[in-house]
Amino acid sequence: MAYDAQNIFAKILRGEIPCLKLYEDEHTLAFMDIMPQADGHALVIPKEAAETLFDLSDQAAAACVQTARKVAQAVKKAMDAPGIVVLQLNGVAAGQTVAHCHFHVIPSSLAALTKGHGAHMEKPEKLAELAEKIRAAF
Ligand code: AMP
Repeated sequence: MAYDAQNIFAKILRGEIPCLKLYEDEHTLAFMDIMPQADGHALVIPKEAAETLFDLSDQAAAACVQTARKVAQAVKKAMDAPGIVVLQLNGVAAGQTVAHCHFHVIPSSLAALTKGHGAHMEKPEKLAELAEKIRAAF
């Protein structure tokens, strides 16, 4: 299927809608998930236009994993998380709701894993506070 350039993450990459940025480099961008599964839930996306992991170039896939690792280390430190889940869904059947490839970085707990993401909007001021803590932990 052709890449839909109107998806929400493509708009974030073009600066058409805002995000709480945590990290950016040549190939990737990381920002706060606005409907988090747990406090400190972050997303890592490639700058390349790709709907799923299978559509990504090898270089972009490698860059995403490197950034996910960096972000996961910062989230773990900032949230004092006992563990971190890195989650990546491909296709509507797998639960993918945004048609631009993304990696979830979720401070883990049994409660977080059963809660699900994308359901409840977090307060902007709480997200901003968590983002500040994570940025300070890089
Ligand atoms: P997935 O189910 O893997 O497609 O997850 C998509 C994620 O994107 C969900 O966890 C949503 O909460 C998150 N999300 C949707 N819109 C935005 C947005 N504008 N900024 C940040 N996160 C978003």
